[in-house]
Amino acid sequence: MTQGFTYQGSSARIVFGNGASARAAVHIEALGCRRALVLSTPQQARDADALAERLGALCVGTFSGATMHTPVDVTERAVAKAAELKADCVVSLGGGSTTGLGKAIAYRTDIAQIVIPTTYAGSEVTPILGQTEGGAKTTLRSPKVLPEVVIYDPELTLGLPVGMSVTSGLNAIAHAAEALYAEDRNPITSMMATEGMRALKDALPVIVASPRDGEARAKALYGAWLCGTVLGQVAMALHHKICHTLGGSFDTPHAETHAVMLPHTIGFNAIAVPELLRPVAEIFGGSPGQALYDFAKSIGSPLALKDFGLKESDLDRAAEIATRSPYPNPRTFDRAAIRSLLQSAWQGERPPH
Ligand code: NAD
Repeated sequence: MTQGFTYQGSSARIVFGNGASARAAVHIEALGCRRALVLSTPQQARDADALAERLGALCVGTFSGATMHTPVDVTERAVAKAAELKADCVVSLGGGSTTGLGKAIAYRTDIAQIVIPTTYAGSEVTPILGQTEGGAKTTLRSPKVLPEVVIYDPELTLGLPVGMSVTSGLNAIAHAAEALYAEDRNPITSMMATEGMRALKDALPVIVASPRDGEARAKALYGAWLCGTVLGQVAMALHHKICHTLGGSFDTPHAETHAVMLPHTIGFNAIAVPELLRPVAEIFGGSPGQALYDFAKSIGSPLALKDFGLKESDLDRAAEIATRSPYPNPRTFDRAAIRSLLQSAWQGERPPH
């Protein structure tokens, strides 16, 4: 604190509450928009159609082709459809994949975005856009991709399958854990990270036992908002770098990869910054890596990278890619250290710290 800090908030309007998505039309009109294109994945196409119907004359069409990692060819088809329909905003209904498509359209066209998130990924409150083209994933940061309005409606998450709730919740916790030691952290982001982790720690076990518990669903979504917010405000480190490598180069599933890696990367960094990670130790009870591992195990999370089809022989190359370019991390490391950490995560071992 004595060193001073910079805090940059976001201008997005956040609307939170059961049933809040039913008032999406009000938010579209408040933005001065009249021609919404509703986006979703193929799996949520029916929900998108229902939303489109509710929007009535304010909706000019739907595009239900969103998919993981925001492929540029899908974006180009969606941009063409938006142009053809003269859409003046997108309404993204779904998880990080759908939000990613909305952001990619906004990046190219500058049209307004209203996001209705249905997972805990947090992309809706970050200026980050990851895209894939020709098998390569690139990430950019731009204020142009920040949505204007985010509507968190916990009722829409009641049906999020338990397995996905667990891994998506751990994905959110990963944003918060790395925010605690981010180089550009500040007291506000640390406070939000701590509150977000605590909310998810309380909510996830209840969701596992009782997936339609409204109270727990609301708490988890609130936690996800806070964790996503800090992801958008401070720089991530080793954990996100390794997950980006595994997802981008080996096609491992996004939330599951975060869930498996989290205890290992945080346990690794806890050696260097135990004070900064004290909230993790306090909330989850124990040394940070081991406490996160025990928590993940208790809620039925996947624990081993080998379960995602990643081969042991891939680990050398993964360690090489993840250490190719330097980036800030609280603990220094070399390729051998990351190779050994990956081995432990591949096998699903309880981390040593
Ligand atoms: P996802 O959006 O791919 O969703 C996974 C599946 O679950 C999809 O089929 C989806 O339709 C379905 N689904 C979502 N919500 C549901 C619900 N409530 N009920 C039933 N089914 C539901 O998964 P995700 O983990 O939310 O997002 C992952 C993607 O988001 C990745 O591409 C990742 O890179 C990106 N991401 C980006 C950022 C960022 O800041 N740019 C942050 C986090 C994630």
